[in-house]
Amino acid sequence: MLYKTISKDNFRKMLEGLMENNEVMGPRWRDRDAQGNKIYRFLKLNNFDELELDYTRTYSSPKNFFLPFKENLATYKLGDSDWEQDIHYTIHPRVIVGMRACDINALRKLDEVMLKSVYPNPYYSARRENTIIIGLDHEPLEDCFCRSMGADVALRGFDLFLTDIGDKYFVAIGSDTGYRILNQYDAQDVTEDDQLEFKRAKQEIESKFKTQVDVTIVPELMDLEFESEVWEKWGDKCLSCGSCAMVCPTCYCYGTEEEVDLTFTHATKSRCLYSCNLLDFAMVAGGHNFRPDSHIRLKYRYYHQFRGFVEAFNQSLCVGCNRCGVACLAGINPKDVIDDLITTEKL
Ligand code: SF4
Ligand code: SF4
Repeated sequence: MLYKTISKDNFRKMLEGLMENNEVMGPRWRDRDAQGNKIYRFLKLNNFDELELDYTRTYSSPKNFFLPFKENLATYKLGDSDWEQDIHYTIHPRVIVGMRACDINALRKLDEVMLKSVYPNPYYSARRENTIIIGLDHEPLEDCFCRSMGADVALRGFDLFLTDIGDKYFVAIGSDTGYRILNQYDAQDVTEDDQLEFKRAKQEIESKFKTQVDVTIVPELMDLEFESEVWEKWGDKCLSCGSCAMVCPTCYCYGTEEEVDLTFTHATKSRCLYSCNLLDFAMVAGGHNFRPDSHIRLKYRYYHQFRGFVEAFNQSLCVGCNRCGVACLAGINPKDVIDDLITTEKL
């Protein structure tokens, strides 16, 4: 990995330069919650001053720039004896600035499924390849447990990754594109002082982690506690609303729909993000539901995050952002559920 520094003035010029030819998205302040805290969201930036680099957490994740809530997969023109299919993968180059390490690591997990599987997803691939990612270090919130999940440090999956070291940024360069962009804005070689400041900044971040989740034996626990009453305890509270999966940076379940218009001349196929907590997730033709109870659906969501993905890709799917815990109106969050499973195991 190559490292450079860039002054904050030049960073501003760099982003303004990128905005001239690309769509640039970043965290913006949108509203306040009931407690008066700012609510942030990744949105298109019209100018540099809209960017809130000291944002805390966005309710929804930048995943939706790669897996939109709803997307058109194909449109069809239907004739008397033939039909034409129209598919678009292409997108204009764009930049996402300010992504946290956990969200970048979440994208890398999605890459495993969307890019490296037997059937790569061309829609995701086009978005991923045409998006420049500029990441940013941050101090964790009280409930972040990304460190427990090994997702608090991003080593790949970005073009540039910034750490604030006072009047400049310490920049990790993750791609040729990142290198070319940075070098247009008077990037400097790293000095010994910069290295010291970088280490201090990293230690400061590390010292702020408050929430830990012991995930050492969680994959095994998922098997051992498959019939545990813990699932009923939490699952019976679940409202089956699906919010947890919608805000999660790594949940990728979806459903497809095909619609034909009333004239039978046009049709569309679209894909919608879905949640395994929704009542009809495992319902099949004829009306049979393989997961009729909320606690079974909740169990399988955790199973996928902490057991199934480990089996398939040797890593948990969860990155420890706790967005699901914040979004859940029933008060269900991974730390409490896993702590309960561990306690049950010890008894
Ligand atoms: S903490 Fe929740 S929202 Fe965040 S990655 Fe894990 S399961 Fe998804
Ligand atoms: S957000 Fe909470 S209540 Fe809604 S489906 Fe997820 S776990 Fe259940």
